[in-house]
Amino acid sequence: MSQRIECSRRTCRWTGNYSTASKRDEGCMQTFICPRCQCDTFYDLPAPIITERVEHANALIKALSEHGRKFFEYKGTIATLELDKNGKVWFVSEYSKARVYTHYRGQWSGFHHGGTLRDLVCAMRDYITKGTLIPIGWIAPNRSNPDNGDIWGYGKEAAAAVRAAAAQLPIIKQGEQA
Ligand SMILES: [Zn+2]
Repeated sequence: MSQRIECSRRTCRWTGNYSTASKRDEGCMQTFICPRCQCDTFYDLPAPIITERVEHANALIKALSEHGRKFFEYKGTIATLELDKNGKVWFVSEYSKARVYTHYRGQWSGFHHGGTLRDLVCAMRDYITKGTLIPIGWIAPNRSNPDNGDIWGYGKEAAAAVRAAAAQLPIIKQGEQA
C-alpha cells in the first residue's frame, strides 16, 4: 500500500496518498497539492490501528452504506473509522476525504452529515473506546408516528432491511426489539 498522507492544514486534514492528491504544474516541475484546500504540504500518516471493535464499527458503516439512501457512501467510497496510537478515534469522510477527530465537541470540519449521524458516529466511537453497545433503535429510527416513516428517510423497506442487517452485527445490543 502506498504511503498515506494528510494535508498539513489542521482545519482540512484531507487524507489520501500521492496518487489521489492533485498536482500543480510549475513549469517543468509538478507539486502535489491537497484537492480540498490546495495546500502543498503533507504529513505522512501512520497506518491506523485495527482492532476487532474498529472492524465491527466499520461493518456497521458498510451495512448503512448498502441500503436506502446509502449513508456514508459517495461514488464508491465508504467512510471509515480509525483508531490512532493514542487511542483516539477518527472518522474519514467518504465525501471530503477529511479525517475528522471524533472527540472534538465543536463543529466537525469535513463532516457532511447532520446531528443524527454525528451522534451515531459518537456512539461508534464509544463502542471502539469503551465497548458500549448501540441499541438497534438508533438504526433508521421511526418517527414518533411510524406512518410518517423513518428519520433517515430510507423508506419503509430499506429501513427494515438496514435494521435487519445491523441487528446481526456485534456492535449492536442484542435481545432488543427493533
Ligand atoms: Zn487540505
